[in-house]
Amino acid sequence: AFDVLVVGGGPAGAAAAIYAARKGIRVGVAAERFGGQVLDTMAIENFISVPHTEGPKLAAQLEQHVKDYDVDVMNLQRAEKLIPAPTEGGLHEVKLANGASLKARTVILSTGARWRTMNVPGEDAYRNKGVAYCPHCDGPLFKGKRVAVIGGGNSGVEAAIDLAGIVAHVTLIEYDGDLRADAVLQRKLATLPNVKVITSALTTEVQGDGEKVTGLVYKDRNHGTSHEIALEGIFVQIGLVPNTEWLKDSVALSNRGEIEIDARGETSQRGIFAAGDATTVPYKQIVIAMGAGSTAALSAFDYLIRLPAE
Ligand code: FAD
Repeated sequence: AFDVLVVGGGPAGAAAAIYAARKGIRVGVAAERFGGQVLDTMAIENFISVPHTEGPKLAAQLEQHVKDYDVDVMNLQRAEKLIPAPTEGGLHEVKLANGASLKARTVILSTGARWRTMNVPGEDAYRNKGVAYCPHCDGPLFKGKRVAVIGGGNSGVEAAIDLAGIVAHVTLIEYDGDLRADAVLQRKLATLPNVKVITSALTTEVQGDGEKVTGLVYKDRNHGTSHEIALEGIFVQIGLVPNTEWLKDSVALSNRGEIEIDARGETSQRGIFAAGDATTVPYKQIVIAMGAGSTAALSAFDYLIRLPAE
């Protein structure tokens, strides 16, 4: 059995594995796709002390750093079920899709999240070429340009307010007849001269020139007419979904499906910790996930040294 079993190999999982391994204990990492969301990212300019890097490069470095330690890395392994230890200090069990079962004194859940996509023509083709999901990450790449934000919930309206300070013009597109964001955000949005809000609109296509985004097409849901907007960037803000469906019966999740953790990264189950985008931590970013992974590993170690000797 492992002392620490990390499930998920993104920034949170990698940091957790390294921090745990440095304690000289038995550490394993099971990940469906080592690198996580970082693999899908191009320019990264907010990984503090590294002014510019690229996702695939950072993902390879994460994996190399983990492998510098005595860690059992199990890549391409999907966890399907977590069975918490029946008694305090006992072994937790993680069942994998391949039928195998892993046991560990502590588990660190770091299965991350995925952005909900629009599923329209052009979205995939122009991802990272104008189609973006993270305003904190990619906003500055669109300085002085025209962008759209898709989604009028809190994250969409926050993104529009944020981007309005950086880009030339923001068009906010909402499917419903009204924005769903908090009133205070809507009031703020209404004061910004370079933001236009279009409601009852369904985005139907991302347009591009083969290299990058040049516009989008939306359908006016009241009149059934199609319209084009010329722009350089599209921020899709229709939801970040935590990869926690498999944990429903084992740890407490928030109403958004995020794993509830305390300040030490512990979940509702003793000896089971969590970190990164899969959790209730505010703000989903690489440096934040790494910090949280480190916290979870140190908390797991703290828990282990307090267990009675066998
Ligand atoms: P993830 O990176 O999502 O990793 C989750 C891991 O868990 C993966 O290994 C995955 O395969 C694995 N997993 C999931 N389910 C299971 C399962 N059931 N069993 C086993 N393994 C599983 N942040 C920044 O700070 N700067 C940026 O510039 C930036 N740009 C971004 C651009 C894009 C396009 C995207 C999508 C995100 C960007 N982010 C950026 C956000 C950043 O990537 C995330 O905050 C960060 O990767 C979260 O790390 P994590 O370890 O919590 O989760």
